[in-house]
Amino acid sequence: MHFQQAPPALGNQYDDDRVLRSYLRRVFPADVLVEIEESLREMGRLAGGELYELQLADRLNEPVLTQWDAWGNRIDQVELTPLWRVAERIAAEHGVVATAYEQKHGSLSRVHQCALAYLFTPSTDIYSCPLAMTDGAARTLLTSGNQQLIDRAVPHLITRDPREFWTAGQWMTELTGGSDVGLSETIAKPQEGGFRLYGRKWFTSAISSQMALTLARPEGNPPGGRGLALFYLETRDEHGRPRNIQINRLKDKLGTRKVPTAELTLDGTPAQLVKGTTDGVRNIAPLLNITRLWNGISAVALMRRGVALSSDYARKRVAFGAPLSEKPLHLDTLATLHAEAEAAFHLAFYVAELAGQSETREISDDDALLLRVLTPVMKLTTGKQAVMVASEVLETFGGAGYVEDTGLPVLLRDSQVLPIWEGTTNVLALDTLRALQSGENDPQRGLVRFAAAVTRCLENVRDARLADAVRVARTALDHATSWLAEAERVGLLALEAGARRFSLTLGRTIELALLIKHAQWSHDHEHDGKAIASARRFAASGINLISDHDADDLSELL
Ligand SMILES: Cc1cc2nc3c(=O)[nH]c(=O)nc-3n(C[C@H](O)[C@H](O)[C@H](O)COP(=O)(O)OP(=O)(O)OC[C@H]3O[C@@H](n4cnc5c(N)ncnc54)[C@H](O)[C@@H]3O)c2cc1C
Repeated sequence: MHFQQAPPALGNQYDDDRVLRSYLRRVFPADVLVEIEESLREMGRLAGGELYELQLADRLNEPVLTQWDAWGNRIDQVELTPLWRVAERIAAEHGVVATAYEQKHGSLSRVHQCALAYLFTPSTDIYSCPLAMTDGAARTLLTSGNQQLIDRAVPHLITRDPREFWTAGQWMTELTGGSDVGLSETIAKPQEGGFRLYGRKWFTSAISSQMALTLARPEGNPPGGRGLALFYLETRDEHGRPRNIQINRLKDKLGTRKVPTAELTLDGTPAQLVKGTTDGVRNIAPLLNITRLWNGISAVALMRRGVALSSDYARKRVAFGAPLSEKPLHLDTLATLHAEAEAAFHLAFYVAELAGQSETREISDDDALLLRVLTPVMKLTTGKQAVMVASEVLETFGGAGYVEDTGLPVLLRDSQVLPIWEGTTNVLALDTLRALQSGENDPQRGLVRFAAAVTRCLENVRDARLADAVRVARTALDHATSWLAEAERVGLLALEAGARRFSLTLGRTIELALLIKHAQWSHDHEHDGKAIASARRFAASGINLISDHDADDLSELL
């Protein structure tokens, strides 16, 4: 009985990541890459070393809510786990939010920041959640033009000093609806030069945050989304007491268990208008665009962690006389997961590039529309991929993948939230249709921009090994284009019923096109054929998901 299993191990997560490093070499000028590399290598070292060790040691800890003190006072304090406390300090010091706002490298600062977030995320148990909302709140306040709130909050949100650092919450979902927030029942009553909020918020993540952006209906406003206004509030007073906010309980969730997600009662919470007394849903859009970008970056980061652990394990685990890494079928399984993660990576980071250009106002009108289309497409596509990859990753470990103290099952549980929050797959598929039709005076403009982006990626591809993959991308694009035209002709039922398959097809098509483009570049400049192999494999993994279902049979299902 001498046999023991060697656990999977991680090295420097920057140095070991071919996909990230190759992408950065293509996108960054060489001298800029030299400048930012130190920060990425240091984050890669932490993520594969101290943070990963702390993550494994912190596995059983969860945030604790204490509602009352010993003397009967309501205090509603939330104690975070040791991992999260360290994660907060490291995130601030290493500028995981700040880098995007310092803009040392213009629009590419957003890509640099996303690379930091990508390395940081898998070792910090969804600390990406408060960071995403912090980043989104900073962007929303800056976009609002409300100078008083900008001066008050933004320096805290984008500082590198952990003592000054604030995180932000995003309180939208109520019992009446998370997708349909127009039904929100929280009321805002004018008082003392500001407002006081009364209502219940049903999902409020990272309740430890110092501030929140939230939606409420000023008294007398009409129902629906337009009648809601966007509010800013600070959660605690100078003595650390909640400002008329009661934390009723923390949610008992499948995953994201380090995230304190609360149910709240707002009972006269002081709040200030961010921008106007109506159109809150529209005014909070900058926040959602940022949190959706973070969602995609988190999805590719978790996929990367899964395949990194699985690849290492395959070299160690022996079955039927040889390491798993020498078994053709196991290798085939791993290669498919690598390809899925690599394709998703290129889409998430392409959206980061466009977001950076938008923030520095270097974006053309056409690319602004492309960003509008790709944000929901990217979020919904990568969220689904993350769940599929995490599930397969667990299987590559056999029984160990199902055993909690390996630290592996959390990958699947945490990934499962990615298609749900920040807009479910269906809700974003419908948003994709709206985005495609949002070109002024030209309902086809969004699709034209999308098609042009795909075509641009494919036009300079010369390597014969990529020819089939190029054909797959073109065929999927043609099918999506003709499906949309036909569904629009048939009517709303057909359009909505097919929206998910259509949007996922758009997502997988642009992922394939971006991967092909990068593969050609990597072959030309790095003499590396790995991305070509990934592109060929991804092309064979189901790009076109559209089936010309008859929407009429839907009524038979329920
Ligand atoms: C861990 C966690 C943390 C969260 N943190 C926060 C937070 O910090 N702040 C916050 O505001 N919210 C938060 N949420 C809430 C989250 O954003 C919502 O749960 C999500 O938006 C879905 O809303 P819902 O739960 O009301 O589902 P519903 O809107 O009821 O959706 C139910 C199902 O119906 C589908 N559906 C809905 N409308 C349509 C349609 N028109 N056509 C087709 N299908 C449709 C959806 O896709 C979904 O599958 C969190 C959720 C989770 C799980």
